[in-house]
Amino acid sequence: MSLDYQIFPSGLLGTNSALVWCTRTREGVLIDPAGEPEEILDIALGYGVAIRGIALTHAHFDHAAAVPELKEITSADLYVHPLDLPLWEGMEGQCRHFGMPVFRLPDPDFMLEEGGVIEVGKEKLSVMHFPGHSPGSCGFLACDANLLFCGDVAFAHGVGRTDLWGGSEASLRTSLARLRTLPDTIEVIPGHGEFFRPSHAGRSGGTLQDV
Ligand SMILES: [Zn+2]
Ligand SMILES: [Zn+2]
Repeated sequence: MSLDYQIFPSGLLGTNSALVWCTRTREGVLIDPAGEPEEILDIALGYGVAIRGIALTHAHFDHAAAVPELKEITSADLYVHPLDLPLWEGMEGQCRHFGMPVFRLPDPDFMLEEGGVIEVGKEKLSVMHFPGHSPGSCGFLACDANLLFCGDVAFAHGVGRTDLWGGSEASLRTSLARLRTLPDTIEVIPGHGEFFRPSHAGRSGGTLQDV
């Protein structure tokens, strides 16, 4: 295995952002970068990693706030699921709705799809479509590292809300059921808060109000 990673809280809502990279090529992909772009670049620099891609588990503002500046500086490829394009394109409206600093996203470069992969140097992340919290919510599975980045589908103490744009309770239930079928050797990294095991997904707590 030559995949390494660093998870760090970022942005105004403490989003679990991550840098995953190939230890052979030192090329990396950022997942949901939301905080200060300079701090995120420092993390990459500290590990000697060149940022080649930026992938969003879903296109809510609290998972994307650092994207415009990071794209500008690194020219990394941007990945999002096509069903979240309305959210991507409506970023300014999302920010205004929640009273957050307003930003726009540059055009994405690649569309994510169920069963697709995101190249990370010589390694890869597998894409799982987990709709419900948003129509295009995705999980990124690093099989060799036993790690799943699941976005806001489920948390250690509850499930993702479905009352935001395009949310669906029925879809969320299906996605949760699918998540629970993954082996418990996998550590699940949600969009916010503590990590958990797949069998625990949505088993305790209610619906959380994290965006
Ligand atoms: Zn979130
Ligand atoms: Zn969200």
